[in-house]
Amino acid sequence: MERSFTTSHTTGTHEGAAVGKLHGKAQFFIGQDGDGNKVHVEVELREGDLSDRHLVYETVEHSKVLNPLTVTVTHDVYEAGRQDPISAGAGTDPIRDVVAFTPGWDQEKATKLAAMADRWHNNTLRAGCAHQRVVWEGDSPHNMRPSLDKAPPCPHTGYRYGRAWLAEVLPPDVEAYFRGLIEQASM
Ligand SMILES: [Zn+2]
Repeated sequence: MERSFTTSHTTGTHEGAAVGKLHGKAQFFIGQDGDGNKVHVEVELREGDLSDRHLVYETVEHSKVLNPLTVTVTHDVYEAGRQDPISAGAGTDPIRDVVAFTPGWDQEKATKLAAMADRWHNNTLRAGCAHQRVVWEGDSPHNMRPSLDKAPPCPHTGYRYGRAWLAEVLPPDVEAYFRGLIEQASM
């Protein structure tokens, strides 16, 4: 099982205000899928980067939040004997496809990670607010995308879908879940 853990805390200034950056990241080799491919997953928690101009985010509830934590969960799938991943990115199907688990992982734990990643990955890049229904459009069931024009505006603020990146702040139990994964990897 490959494990790594990095943590750093740096401070700097942005338009005169001190800002901090917290960073935690861990890589896991979860196991192999039915074809013997190896499924690796990276979990990362980070605050808005110092170079990020969007230090103050609007939330999906239309309040303001400073430097919200962003969680990302990404995978790399390797075929035996090949250096480059045959699949990489944010999709969680590879996590669900694992059938032979490495020590520390099992079906239940992997299923939970996939569900949490589906729900919270890129939580500060939400196109829609909490009061909005997404309208999907496309020319086939396999090629659907959220419509930027057909979603009704927010009934409270008039916000139009896709006009900004909104932050869905991680609830404490969700943050604790991802922090727990990262800290487990460092033990
Ligand atoms: Zn709204």
